[in-house]
Amino acid sequence: MSEGVERQIIGVVGSIGPELQDELEVMDGVSEVLRISKPYKLSAREFHPEDTVVSIGEAGVKIGGGEFCVFAGPCAIEDEEQLVSTAKAVQAAGAKVLRGGAFKPRTSPYSFRGMGEDGLKLMATARAETGMPVITEVMSERDVELVERYSDVIQVGARNMQNFALLDQVGKTRKPVMVKRGFSATYEDWLLAAEYVMAGGNEDVILCERGVRTFETFTRNTMDINAMPVIKRLSHLPIVADPSHATGKWYLVSPVACASVAAGADGLIIEVHPNPDTAMSDGAQSLTFENFAALMQQSEAIRAVVTPHATSS
Ligand code: PEP
Ligand code: MN
Repeated sequence: MSEGVERQIIGVVGSIGPELQDELEVMDGVSEVLRISKPYKLSAREFHPEDTVVSIGEAGVKIGGGEFCVFAGPCAIEDEEQLVSTAKAVQAAGAKVLRGGAFKPRTSPYSFRGMGEDGLKLMATARAETGMPVITEVMSERDVELVERYSDVIQVGARNMQNFALLDQVGKTRKPVMVKRGFSATYEDWLLAAEYVMAGGNEDVILCERGVRTFETFTRNTMDINAMPVIKRLSHLPIVADPSHATGKWYLVSPVACASVAAGADGLIIEVHPNPDTAMSDGAQSLTFENFAALMQQSEAIRAVVTPHATSS
């Protein structure tokens, strides 16, 4: 159900015959019965005209509907000092949510694959020390309960965007879920992935554009700037941009972050490390504390001049 200022919209999903439409139309209190033409329903703006605002953690950090939120932290959690010092630095610069991977999807099985539950415990320590809510990735159905216990937002990574069993499982949790776009997923594929989570009963979904695969090899991926206004038009869900994974190079992160903000992103997720040269994962795309603080100032300046873009006529 979507509760707007002027009307309530009740969504009915499944195959619905024309008779049911007629029966519903004559009921008291029903002003009209509209068919949602898109294959995704709950995530469609047609069903829910107002922007969804997702509330994160006990602190109630908001994202969507004009509320802007930056998630920042290391790609992978390495040790307490690394995580807590990063948390404090990004918080001082204005980030609201701490990111950090404990279960890392690595292309090679020989790369550092994360600290697992010990990493999640360090996330809890960093949250206790700073009051920042935390986001971390869950890679397997098996770990959903564990990650839900420690994390304020559950991240589904690009490689798992179409792991339907995992999407079903996170749909049963009561924590907001960030669904990252698959490397070569269309907007429809991606919104249908969000639909899995919502159909499971969890409507607190945040979408994340993290770049798509193109013919270009100089950058790790290519940021699809179109995604920001396209998703705003097609869906009511908040959209975050990840310029770290979209570019793969630290010196591209700030300009591409700024472009994403100008295009209407509701937030950013940025990899930051105390010493990127020694990072165990994604050092080349990680910002130093200083560069992150500079990016935050630039992004604020851009937000101040970008009024919400009209996305429907
Ligand atoms: C990450 O956020 O560290 C990550 C692995 O991202 P993606 O799933 O977008 O590659
Ligand atoms: Mn990473």
